[in-house]
Amino acid sequence: MNYYILTLFPEMVMSGLNTSIIGRGIKNGHISIEAINIRDYATNKHGTVDDYPYGGGAGMVMQAEPIYLAYEALRQRIGSKKPRVIYLTPQGKTFSQGMAAEYAKEEELIFLCGHYEGVDQRILDMIVTDEVSIGDYVLTGGELPAMVMIDTISRLVSGVLNNDDSAVFESFHSNLLEYPQYTRPAEFMGRKVPDVLLSGDHAKVEQWRYEESLRITKERRPDLLELSAGERENAWIGTADKQRQQEM
Ligand code: SAM
Repeated sequence: MNYYILTLFPEMVMSGLNTSIIGRGIKNGHISIEAINIRDYATNKHGTVDDYPYGGGAGMVMQAEPIYLAYEALRQRIGSKKPRVIYLTPQGKTFSQGMAAEYAKEEELIFLCGHYEGVDQRILDMIVTDEVSIGDYVLTGGELPAMVMIDTISRLVSGVLNNDDSAVFESFHSNLLEYPQYTRPAEFMGRKVPDVLLSGDHAKVEQWRYEESLRITKERRPDLLELSAGERENAWIGTADKQRQQEM
């Protein structure tokens, strides 16, 4: 998976993504991330990339031309006719784990980060294929949303996670939130780990985790429980088996 980020703040995205698991994924060659500075494609001598909005109003709008030139240079370099270009915007479709799984199947993704009041509509109409929001709030720029998306998608790219940080059982898997997790010691300040987790009985542990996931999802996110109980249990048990086979 190759990510390209069109941004006015390349150092912000690169420093944020070059650490921890995503950084390791880059080092191991499972993903690559390149930030392209839109300002490098400014055509005026002051290097400005924004201007006042037509019709008046507060703030500045990012101009179409530098974005177009940055996009065209990239498109030609990667040799793609119509690459998938995601514009981060509060007006887009709300990002979800399901969308991340779809994006993880792509070989390359281009992210366009807006700033100030946003981007000239004409360039969005010309190059953008997807508009995505990370939630119903307004940030100062698209850089953090792009980082959120890249982090989430990369965890689903083969090889990025190892067995220690497997994505098989996690919140939103089978439309359930994750069960509670415990690690050593078995007792901390008088609070004990549930007995079943120490029992060594895989089937009982699995059943307990499923029931806890269901309880927590009912309490906190009942809207997720749209799969029928049978479908949900099958999806859950199926992946438990798969994970055990991988571990053997
Ligand atoms: N005037 C725009 C509006 O009301 O829709 C908001 C502009 S915002 C201050 C600047 C940039 O931040 C946007 O162009 C977008 O790239 C990014 N942004 C802000 N909030 C976002 C969100 N919730 N999801 C994705 N991108 C967001």
